[in-house]
Amino acid sequence: MGCNPPYHLSYRLRLLLLFTLCLTVVGWATSNYFVGAIQVIPKAKDFMASFHKVIHLGNEETLGHDGATKKPELANCPSVSPNLRGQSKLVFKPDLTLEEIEAENPKVSRGRYHPEECKALQRVAILIPHRNREKHLIYLLEHLHPFLQRQQLDYGIYIIHQTGSKKFNRAKLLNVGYLEALKEENWDCFVFHDVDLVPENDFNLYTCGDQPKHLVVGRNSTGYRVELHKMKISRPKPDVGKYTMIFHTRDKGNEVNMGRMKLLQQMSRVWKTDGLSSCSYRLLSVEHNPLYANITVDFWTAA
Ligand code: UDP
Ligand code: MN
Repeated sequence: MGCNPPYHLSYRLRLLLLFTLCLTVVGWATSNYFVGAIQVIPKAKDFMASFHKVIHLGNEETLGHDGATKKPELANCPSVSPNLRGQSKLVFKPDLTLEEIEAENPKVSRGRYHPEECKALQRVAILIPHRNREKHLIYLLEHLHPFLQRQQLDYGIYIIHQTGSKKFNRAKLLNVGYLEALKEENWDCFVFHDVDLVPENDFNLYTCGDQPKHLVVGRNSTGYRVELHKMKISRPKPDVGKYTMIFHTRDKGNEVNMGRMKLLQQMSRVWKTDGLSSCSYRLLSVEHNPLYANITVDFWTAA
């Protein structure tokens, strides 16, 4: 009996030692497990980062200092696009729809396009004054979009639509288009375009030089303003500057202006103040359709 207590004690002690040993082993094992788990995360992060890097490099993108992706600088487009075709015979399908034109131009969005293969040499805004010529507009859009894409231009098409029944004012619509388009993009070049003239030859480049350019050869319009500014108008060669003019009768609200001779006589006096600086208009809406931006305006006065 006397020797039992030490045996009993040593048994308890052994149990305690075993228990402590077990705790130590479990503690060591779990601590290693958690430390290991915590360490794995940054490694996984590093791995994922380098994995992303590989993928981005594959996409010809690079990582910036902050890890954000940056597109590499594209080389400039050539001065003459390799996609030009020259003179083409235009066909006007009677039942053509805007949806068909959209399907033909999948890379055009909100009336805009830019080449993906190179950096366009110019950003060009095409301004088209319009009222009640929907059919002409469809034909022009059908031909103009692929035409401008073949020229590798960064471009946007703006239709400036005059509402109401006041006399149609083409020049004022162009002024409005110029001001409104500049609110959207810092365009390098503006092309004023009638809705019923469709270019036939894509060597007729819709770009700006130092001087204004009259793209239509044969349909000569009055260029007097330009001459007062001591500028010369350049024109493409006759075979390049060819347009198909879509037939129309004279529109209602666009009758021949009987006072036009008087207006021309006033030109030398008012040309500096009339125009952009005195362009008062009510902007009713700016909508972005897939194939063009539509600017709708109303003018306060008839003239
Ligand atoms: N225009 C329009 N609706 C009109 C009148 C003119 O859209 O009622 C626009 C259209 O872009 C047209 C341009 O203004 O091409 C010039 O007018 P028009 O075609 O009547 O001139 P012309 O054929 O006599 O040069
Ligand atoms: Mn016309």
